[in-house]
Amino acid sequence: MLKSKLTPLLRQYLEIKEKHNDCLIFFRLGDFYELFFEDAKVAAKCLNITLTKRGQIDGTDIPMCGVPHHQGENYLTRLIRNGFKVAICEQIETPEESKKRGYKEIIKRKVVRIASPGTLTEEKELTLSDNNFLMGVLLYENNYNIVYSDISTGEINLKKCFNENEVLSFIEDISPSEILIPNNSSYEFIFKKENKFNNVTHFKKSFMDFNYAKECLIKTYSSNKKFNILNFAKEDIIALGTLISYIMFTQNGRLPVLSLPNSKENSDYLEIDNATKRNLEIKKTLNGEKEGSLFNSLDFTFTSNGSRKLLSDISNPLKCHKKINKRLEYVKFFYVNFDFFKEDIIDSISNFPDISRSLNRLNFGRGGPRDLYSIYKGLQKALKIYDILNKNNKLHNPFNEFLSLIDKNSKVIKLIELLEKSLNEKLPISSKEGNFIRSGFDAELDEIRSYRDNARKLILSQEEEEKKITGISNLKIKYNNFLGYFLDVSSSNNKKVKAIESRYIHRQTLKNSYRYTTKKLVEVSENILNANHKLQEIENKIYARLVENITSISNVILMLSDMIARIDVSISWVRYAKKYNAVEPKIDNTNIFKIVNGRHPSVEKTHMESFISNSCILNEKENNIFKLITGPNMSGKSTYLRQNALILVMAQSGGYCPAESVNIGICDKLFCRLGSGDELAKGNSTFMVEMIETANILNSASDRSLVVLDEIGRGTSTFDGMSLAWAIIEYLIEKIKCKTLFATHYNELSQLKKKYNQIKLNTFKVKEWENELIFLHELIEGVAESSYGIQVAKMAGIPNQVTLEAKKILKNLENKTVASNKKNNQTLIDFELKQNDTFVKDLKENISSINLNNITPIEALNVLEKIKKQFLKNLNKDNL
Ligand code: ATP
Repeated sequence: MLKSKLTPLLRQYLEIKEKHNDCLIFFRLGDFYELFFEDAKVAAKCLNITLTKRGQIDGTDIPMCGVPHHQGENYLTRLIRNGFKVAICEQIETPEESKKRGYKEIIKRKVVRIASPGTLTEEKELTLSDNNFLMGVLLYENNYNIVYSDISTGEINLKKCFNENEVLSFIEDISPSEILIPNNSSYEFIFKKENKFNNVTHFKKSFMDFNYAKECLIKTYSSNKKFNILNFAKEDIIALGTLISYIMFTQNGRLPVLSLPNSKENSDYLEIDNATKRNLEIKKTLNGEKEGSLFNSLDFTFTSNGSRKLLSDISNPLKCHKKINKRLEYVKFFYVNFDFFKEDIIDSISNFPDISRSLNRLNFGRGGPRDLYSIYKGLQKALKIYDILNKNNKLHNPFNEFLSLIDKNSKVIKLIELLEKSLNEKLPISSKEGNFIRSGFDAELDEIRSYRDNARKLILSQEEEEKKITGISNLKIKYNNFLGYFLDVSSSNNKKVKAIESRYIHRQTLKNSYRYTTKKLVEVSENILNANHKLQEIENKIYARLVENITSISNVILMLSDMIARIDVSISWVRYAKKYNAVEPKIDNTNIFKIVNGRHPSVEKTHMESFISNSCILNEKENNIFKLITGPNMSGKSTYLRQNALILVMAQSGGYCPAESVNIGICDKLFCRLGSGDELAKGNSTFMVEMIETANILNSASDRSLVVLDEIGRGTSTFDGMSLAWAIIEYLIEKIKCKTLFATHYNELSQLKKKYNQIKLNTFKVKEWENELIFLHELIEGVAESSYGIQVAKMAGIPNQVTLEAKKILKNLENKTVASNKKNNQTLIDFELKQNDTFVKDLKENISSINLNNITPIEALNVLEKIKKQFLKNLNKDNL
């Protein structure tokens, strides 16, 4: 396209577009944000707005569409939700200023923000209880350094991954809104997944400059005394600095307000792979719903900040028993003193505003008077919570850190006083609307306000005066942006005004009215407009001062916000514990796993009266590390497996657990393979997924891990499946020696008890009554008598004809097995031999076909050789 053929305005547009090629440009034109060319087509379709045109180039229309600037945020949100990035380009001078530079000069414009999915801060664009992470992935000396931050709350974390799969699975776990990677072939494995992780932003590798990154980092934390650059390795500095400089690039050079970087080292957290998290339904159920998930059952928080922390806690349980016990100490403090605190603390913490998000909005210049108020209200409530926690000195108080934060910080108290004195009760969203500063706070502001108000009164008295002079009783003084104040006279009364023409200056003629002004009115009008202008100027200055006061203690505000979230989470555990009789777990460094009368936190919600509690004791005294659970369908095996894994998650998150007592020696990893699903899109069948997940367990579990397996081997033929299950059990007991819960319908596996003392056999009690099955859901010692599959099928509504026929077939099969078992005196060893059935059958056939009466010695030798080959072949197969 020939730029020279375009108007100066469109040339300016194209120059900006060239610099921000991956963004749609919101190009400010008066009261609108306009989009041109391809951007216009794309945006008009996405926003469902009219596509128009602005001039032509080479005889072709130039597409254009626009949105009113005061509704810009709504449209922006829609575009971002649809995966677009938007560069907001504002006018940075007035038309008068541009005219001063030359008659034909156009207004200067500049991109003041790049709105991308990972850098959002506005309330409307964010989900309250979810984090909005921007993630950077940077390869450095064969390791991947990941840094991810929610700039709306100031959280920032570091994580190291050692291979591509780890990176992909971490991305899947965190599900960032935007991923930042260098434009380089080493990151091809992420490019390839671009459809899945749909917002990938590429940057030039040269962007990752160590010195620049270091400078960014030091600047960002310049006011945080706890920050020390020496605590960070070179690769961490590059990763952190690169992410921060990208944030600055999108925010017109403004530095974000961030908490200290939190290192998510593997050594600090219970390792739970994504499959386990999914299977345990921690955040969402397998159907993708929140209802029924662990988080949904436990979330009794009052604030969105607390809710985000609780979700993060249970998604990342800890491994250090000291840290867990610290969290438990917080919970216990509120649990023990709950009646003492209840009313006051709930009153203070409920409706606690999201101060970290307000702080960051103000910091990026996108906040408003309501964010000032939210900080004021938050700090005031924090002070109240401080008083409540301090109320009784006799109580042992684990919140010293929080208390000392306020104690030592007179700046917090001064800020509360300043905001209290300065803010009006009714506050507009934007500071531009004005009138949010309380009268009495600033003398100059008060003076001009009273002048403006008097001038308004003057207008009214002018109206009365003009009515008298003209004799027009319905004469009105009105206002619009174009004319300012004017007299409005209906056409029928116009002659009365004409009669005294020397007094009235004509401004406009409309269909039914005439508009005039007078010298006096012009004077008063100018005074009012000047006053309004001045008022806006003064209020803006005060606003900027208040924001500066707030951001000057942003570290303290972020720490307070974090502490309040921790208090909220602790109270949430107490409220959960009181409602569901949950207990404090005992966490230590032993290798015991002892849950007495445990319950499933989500299932018991829907079975309040009827939920049957069951114990799970592993590795106490005896070496009973392995529970082999057989049981009928529907008896409660999966529920039992999940409940024990979930109790481990809750305990190591520092929460109370649904049981009579819980004693857990810290586990390093938790694996749960429950149920099966296929990943057809990834090219994996159900059985393949089952085996991939099991392989991961066998390759990664240690003797400090808890492994939970449900129906391993179900996805293939009975003998293949049973053989695999058998060998997997042996491997887990002999090699890994981890605590294991293993549920199966293969009752034959119970024979392994003879070989391994470590195995405990359990099943679920079932009663048959009048041909009906009753599931008692009670775990007992022993092996299941039957799977009762046909009865369950009948209960599910399978036609009678089918279940009756199935029963007959089952009886036949059982009789045959019993008969052959009796005949062959079959033992456990026979099961192993069964695997060689084909070989034995072939061998039998070969030998019985030999007729010894008419076989020559050579033929006899050939037969012998054939048999030998068969043996060797089978031997090799076994050895493979
Ligand atoms: P299958 O072998 O068919 O997969 P299962 O033995 O794994 O079945 P679950 O899915 O755990 O059985 O449980 C079936 C239903 O029984 C659950 O949906 C729940 O409603 C109920 N249930 C399970 N355990 C208990 C319990 N301890 N107390 C009360 N009800 C329970």
